[in-house]
Amino acid sequence: MTITVAIIGSGPAGFYTADALVNGGCDVQVDIIERLPTPYGLIRGGVAPDHQTTKKVARKYEQTALFEQVRYFGNVEVNKDVTLAELREMYDAVVLAVGAPSDRKLTIPGADKTGVHGSAAFVGWYNGHPDFRDLEPDLNIRAAVVIGNGNVALDCARVLVRSREGMAGADIAAHAMAMIETAPLTDVYMTGRRGPLDAKFTNVELRELADLERAVPLARAEQLPDAAPDDMDPRDKRLAERNLANLRDYATNDPDAKPKRIHFEFFAQPVAILGDQRVEAVSFERTRVIDGRAEGTGEVFEIPCGLVIAAIGYRSDPIEGAPFDDKAGIIPNRDGRVDAGLYAVGWIKRGPTGVISSNRPDGVTVAEYICEDFKDVAEKGGGKPGRAALKPLLEDRGVRVVSFDDWKKIEAAEVARAEGSGRPREKFVTVPEMLKVLDA
Ligand code: NAP
Repeated sequence: MTITVAIIGSGPAGFYTADALVNGGCDVQVDIIERLPTPYGLIRGGVAPDHQTTKKVARKYEQTALFEQVRYFGNVEVNKDVTLAELREMYDAVVLAVGAPSDRKLTIPGADKTGVHGSAAFVGWYNGHPDFRDLEPDLNIRAAVVIGNGNVALDCARVLVRSREGMAGADIAAHAMAMIETAPLTDVYMTGRRGPLDAKFTNVELRELADLERAVPLARAEQLPDAAPDDMDPRDKRLAERNLANLRDYATNDPDAKPKRIHFEFFAQPVAILGDQRVEAVSFERTRVIDGRAEGTGEVFEIPCGLVIAAIGYRSDPIEGAPFDDKAGIIPNRDGRVDAGLYAVGWIKRGPTGVISSNRPDGVTVAEYICEDFKDVAEKGGGKPGRAALKPLLEDRGVRVVSFDDWKKIEAAEVARAEGSGRPREKFVTVPEMLKVLDA
């Protein structure tokens, strides 16, 4: 007999779970419920628009969506259109795969000034996420500070200095490209509170900066150690040394080689955002790293700028009807099991770290647990109705469900809009625009 499963969230964690369920050992019916009309979560709204190779994994997710057992319920918001409690009544198992859509907050004085944005918002804006369409960051500035030394910080710094030609094969939102292209911005400061050996960004992403068409990466030789210490984990040491080699090259770059610059500034702990209403500078305290921790030296310096992107990590939001560990920013769980019939996968399960494929094992594990936990239903029947109950409930409430076929129509319209431009698609950036395609 069939086990009914609702997966909330259609990002990588949700799709890997759906795939593992369908290819697992038990008979399942899987419904993927997504707040936006468009699927794929961070693949569409988080991965940088000039990283199209990473986005290709969406083709695999599409195959999953097309399995007989799987249905996509787009444009359905949990706890607005249907509550989590109702879903738990209707489905044997509910899997929370809602990610970490919010910014970890920058809490220094002045962090609420105009011109300070979190990376979730900024990345969402340039990726055409409907929630951030109206962010409209003021790019009529000469310098920007990016706080953080992770891959998201690198994405933000790089996208800020790219040209339209450089973005030729990218699916950056049209509104963002127009602003970035004409911005007088010449200098972006990538600031890390610790040193180059502690940076979280990876080498491919760092190396990519060497080939930017109109920006040159710069590092300061005096901030770069000669070698990574021998007591480092061998793998970390190898990676850190690769980064060091690139940063050393960047330290020899000519600042005037290209019209724009990305400056690496390590050992810089932000202490305040300065300015009247708007950001005018960031005040930093110089640090040294002791036992892996940044310690202030008392030396203070400022970097004048008109824009600050705080790329200091993401955060999950609590979901009504599920427990939440506010300190850890996750749903408390035992290897993905939350409560009877309730599971968590991806960033809401383990926090906002790892690459896209890091979500696959979460999905595989939870799929196995579901088969195990509902063995009785599989063998004897008597499970919950799943889709047969959800569909009429949404119809009664007048919810406009976007099916996977509908999404393919939206996608085809986006691809058609970009025809001749060399770009893979021109995204619709508001939900009404997306739904209008379906009315045509
Ligand atoms: P991340 O890798 O955790 O980096 C966060 C950065 O913010 C760290 O440098 C951290 O410094 C710094 N930070 C945290 N709190 C701070 C504070 N209060 N003040 C100053 N700095 C602070 O997070 P992320 O960049 O958001 O990336 C999230 C995940 O997505 C990562 O696993 C990342 O690799 C992945 N991702 C991958 C790619 C790719 O593969 N191309 C692209 C984007 C994202 P400390 O180290 O000192 O804490």
